[in-house]
Amino acid sequence: MKQTNLVKKMKKAVFPGSFDPLTLGHTDIIDRAIPLFDEIIIAIGTNSSKKYMFSLKERTDFIKKTYANEPRVKVDTYQGLTIDYCNKVGSDFILRGLRNPADFEFEKAIAQTNRKMSRIETVFLLTSADTSYISSSIVRDILGNKGDVSLLVPKAVVER
Ligand code: ADP
Repeated sequence: MKQTNLVKKMKKAVFPGSFDPLTLGHTDIIDRAIPLFDEIIIAIGTNSSKKYMFSLKERTDFIKKTYANEPRVKVDTYQGLTIDYCNKVGSDFILRGLRNPADFEFEKAIAQTNRKMSRIETVFLLTSADTSYISSSIVRDILGNKGDVSLLVPKAVVER
């Protein structure tokens, strides 16, 4: 009998970002992407010339704690080009969120360049109306002024 070779390739997406810290804007995108992929790797990009508010360990732990019960969400860190990281982990997709026209212009150039340099497709999810205003930089500003960010970030970040 002829054997059919129907091994389905796992659909993996890399969600790259700084996640300094993880916000409800990020979790909205991740939660909505879970049904679309078999695995989502939240990849924290590290750039030695950039100053972060939270250490790499803290940023990793926020994501690990938030998705402790979701085996399809993994966390990793990387340096260098996102497409090189995608090739390393065998991911054909980059996941990004879009909040506004400025995000679109910026992301469009990066996605088109990545597509020119590789076969990697960038999948964009449009921000939800109730989280579109949230950004890590606003959260950092509020924290820097000792304000309350509990409406903007997941529990794991509030607890810290
Ligand atoms: P980066 O420095 O790469 O922009 P961020 O951690 O700020 O890293 O963002 C990572 C991704 O999450 C980006 O695609 C960004 O557009 C998306 N994102 C951040 N906040 C929101 C939000 N409120 N709604 C939708 N997407 C968001």
